[in-house]
Amino acid sequence: MTRKRDYYEVLGVPRNASQEEIKRAFRRLALKYHPDRNPGDKEAEEKFKEINEAYQVLSDPEKRARYDRFGHAGVEGEVHIPQDWTEFLQFFADLFGDLGGWARPNQPTRGRNLNVNLTLTFEEAVFGVEKDLHLRREEPCPTCHGTGLPPGVQPTPCRTCGGQGVVRQARYTFLGTLVQEALCPACQGRGIEIPGVCPTCGGGGRVLQNVTLRIQIPPGVESGDRLRIAGEGHVGERGGPRGDLIVRLKVRPHPYFRRQGHDILLNLKINVAQATLGAEVEVPTVDGPAKLRIPPGTQPGQVLRLRGKGVPRGNGARGDQLVIVHVEIPKHLTPEQRQLFEALAETLGSEAAPQSKGLFERFREWLGG
Ligand SMILES: [Zn+2]
Ligand SMILES: [Zn+2]
Repeated sequence: MTRKRDYYEVLGVPRNASQEEIKRAFRRLALKYHPDRNPGDKEAEEKFKEINEAYQVLSDPEKRARYDRFGHAGVEGEVHIPQDWTEFLQFFADLFGDLGGWARPNQPTRGRNLNVNLTLTFEEAVFGVEKDLHLRREEPCPTCHGTGLPPGVQPTPCRTCGGQGVVRQARYTFLGTLVQEALCPACQGRGIEIPGVCPTCGGGGRVLQNVTLRIQIPPGVESGDRLRIAGEGHVGERGGPRGDLIVRLKVRPHPYFRRQGHDILLNLKINVAQATLGAEVEVPTVDGPAKLRIPPGTQPGQVLRLRGKGVPRGNGARGDQLVIVHVEIPKHLTPEQRQLFEALAETLGSEAAPQSKGLFERFREWLGG
C-alpha cells in the first residue's frame, strides 16, 4: 500500500488555511475529479476519493486538531465513505446548497436579477419620490402561461420515469456498485411528457416584454445607493420564481446645495455691512425660500444653522441646513461709498494682529470634527 499523502497537500491549502479556504479548495477539486466528468478514469476516481477523505478530516475542527497533532494515526477509521450515490450528492448539496453543477437543467429555475439605473434630482433624493420605471423584463409567456408546452396540451406524467424526472442506473464506481440517479432522457428531468414546445417562447415559458413598474424611493438616498426590490426581476424558466430588481441610483448635483449626511450645506455671500450690522436675508432651502437672521458681527466662514431644513431621518426628524457665510469685500466703490469707508477707517485705527485660527479650522471646529 502506498503511503498516504498529507491532507493539506491533497487539498492544496496551507496548514493554517481557514475553513472557508478548505471548503473552496474541496469544491474546486471535487468538481474537477468527479467520476461523472472523468468516466472510466481510475486515477480521477482515486483522487476524488482522496480529496473527499481529506475534506472530511480538515473540515471538522476536532478531527483536524487531532490530525495536526498525530497525523493520519489520529483520525484512523473515522472517515466516513458515503454508502451510495444519493448520500454523496446529499452531502454535497448540504455543503454547497446545490448539487455542485449537477442540478437538473429542466426544473423551474429562479429568474435573473434585473439591473436598472435611475437618476434623481437633489430634492427627489432628499424627500423620496414615487417613480415609474419602464423595463424590458422577462415575463411568463402569454401563449403557454409559462409551461412551455404547445397550446391546448395538458401535461401528463412522463412514461419513462413515471413523473419522477430521474431514472436509476446501477454503475460501478470506487464505492462499489452503486445505484445512481440520472436525468430522465425522455423528459429531461421535467417529469412530464413533452409533445412539442410552445411556438411563442420555444419552450422556455417566458418572453421579453415592456413593463412599467411604480417604485417608491425612500427619503435620504444618495448617489451610488442600490435599492433591491425582491421578486421584481426576470421571471424564472418554466414558472420559476422571479429574480430581484436592482435599482442603481444617481443624484444630479444641485446648483447651490450639497449633502453632508443628513445636513445640507449652502454657501451664502453677504456684504460687509450685513456682516457687521446684522441683517435678515432670504435663502433657498429644499422647502423653498426661508428667512435667515445674520447676527451683527458675523465673521467670514461662520456657519449659521437653519434647524430642520435638512434631509429626513428614519425617525421622522430632519437634519439641518448649514449656511456657510462668505463676506464679500467690495472691489469697486462709488465716490460716496469711498468717503464713508474713509471716515470709518479713521475711527478703526490701523492695528493689525496675527490670526489665531484659519477659516477652515474654525469651520471644522464648529462641525465638531
Ligand atoms: Zn410559451
Ligand atoms: Zn421522464
